[in-house]
Amino acid sequence: MEDPRFSLKDAFVVGEELVCLWEDGHESYFPGAALRKACTCASCKGEKHLFGKATLPTLRRLPPEALVPVAVRRVGRYGLQVVWGDGHDFGIYHLKELRQSCPCSACRAARGEETVAP
Ligand SMILES: [Zn+2]
Ligand SMILES: [Zn+2]
Repeated sequence: MEDPRFSLKDAFVVGEELVCLWEDGHESYFPGAALRKACTCASCKGEKHLFGKATLPTLRRLPPEALVPVAVRRVGRYGLQVVWGDGHDFGIYHLKELRQSCPCSACRAARGEETVAP
């Protein structure tokens, strides 16, 4: 039995966010900019841990469209590939990492992270 927390029911793009619906009923909304900056592909070399506390001072500047997800597709059973507004699509995000990086306040609190005040 797969862990329903890490199994994806559906994923799609809404505005500038990637939405993941999980088998356990949880929904995650990932801001495109944060996700793109976490791209771990060879050409981006993003931070391994999504939304980690570390910043990326060496990250090259990306055009605004590069931070907007335009399409998403499943890769095997554990991966998700995001196509970006600038045509970039090398990055594969692991479902488990995505779920563990869910930016919603409930998940952040569960991870012991401070929630960002609006
Ligand atoms: Zn990349
Ligand atoms: Zn969450």
